Amino acid sequence: MVFKSLFRKPSTIQYMGGKLSLDNRVRGLLRYDPATCIDCKLCMRDCPTGAIRIVNNGTKTERDMHAYLDTGLCIFCGQCADSCSKNSLSCTSKADLSQLKHDDLTIEL
Ligand code: SF4
Ligand code: SF4
Repeated sequence: MVFKSLFRKPSTIQYMGGKLSLDNRVRGLLRYDPATCIDCKLCMRDCPTGAIRIVNNGTKTERDMHAYLDTGLCIFCGQCADSCSKNSLSCTSKADLSQLKHDDLTIEL
């Protein structure tokens, strides 16, 4: 049994040293499209952890939209993307989001 294991492919994946390859059904980092966002903030209201923040740095008529995600709070449930009627948010399968510093966990999407 032990001898047979020498020739078997590993069941685990090499991570940090190698590339993380996940099924594309995995819910990972969100993608944001500021061009379609109407600043309704439904995504923020429905987020169970308060991880997402939508900010308009422009005016009501000339929007300058930005989305920020606290990857330390996000549980990657996809609720914000489901709540968005404009499909401005979607889930990607990118999941290697670890950071050394706590402040770096909040990123602009
Ligand atoms: S729900 Fe969609 S359209 Fe509304 S603020 Fe969030 S991303 Fe923008
Ligand atoms: S995926 Fe879930 S936890 Fe993360 S920002 Fe969207 S609603 Fe919030």
